[in-house]
Amino acid sequence: MFIVWGKKRVTTWLGYVADFCPICRDLRTFEVTRIGLAGHVYYISFGEGELAGHIRTCTACDIDLNARPENYRELHKEKLAPQQLAPLTFPNWAQAHATRLAVEREISSAFGNLAPQVRQVLIREPFELLSPRVEERFRASHFDGPTALAILGLFVLLWIASEIAQRFPAVFLVAFGVASIVGLGGIGVALYQKNGRFFREKIIPPLVAALRPLKPTAAELETVLKEMKSHRHAIGKKLKLKWLLDALKTDEAGAVGS
Ligand SMILES: [Zn+2]
Repeated sequence: MFIVWGKKRVTTWLGYVADFCPICRDLRTFEVTRIGLAGHVYYISFGEGELAGHIRTCTACDIDLNARPENYRELHKEKLAPQQLAPLTFPNWAQAHATRLAVEREISSAFGNLAPQVRQVLIREPFELLSPRVEERFRASHFDGPTALAILGLFVLLWIASEIAQRFPAVFLVAFGVASIVGLGGIGVALYQKNGRFFREKIIPPLVAALRPLKPTAAELETVLKEMKSHRHAIGKKLKLKWLLDALKTDEAGAVGS
């Protein structure tokens, strides 16, 4: 008999804390999770497993960051607003993040004066933080909703073609030919647009939110994407500069209009 066994990632929810989020650039409510590696037999494991680390996930932008539960006074069981949660979980958060908060004040000030190297580091930061999400996505092949629908569409078209062919045997080849071309074409378009969809939904909104106050130029963004690409980060290879520039432009127009 073949027994499936090995190690499996086990996540255990621990509670909520307030902390600084570098994507939202503000105090936010985070969910803290313990990551363990537990032995499993047929994917069924027992216990929390050996400690692999802790993560905190921002409840506003969904970014995962490393966490140290010992830094917090408590892990609260209830999801509260960050200002309510801070005195309970991380009362000295402002002192702990004093250097960072000073940089944030400099960024948001109209008279702020950041050295070009500091700017470049700050512009690169959200790309580095979002990189694991992109890596995870491209590690395995992935079918999203529209791609699955396009595959279903091909089967529906082939079924229609078979119905037509039964009634009109003379057009057998034409019916199947048209159904295959249209159906496969649909799958091709869905697959082609799949990366764009993923970036538009999961990566660009938090990226734009983090980059907004920095107002990066196209050249600065291009430099960061090239750097990420040279370090073999999928985000540098798959994210198109144009998508980002368009999103930043729309965001700016929205901000002016509102
Ligand atoms: Zn956030």
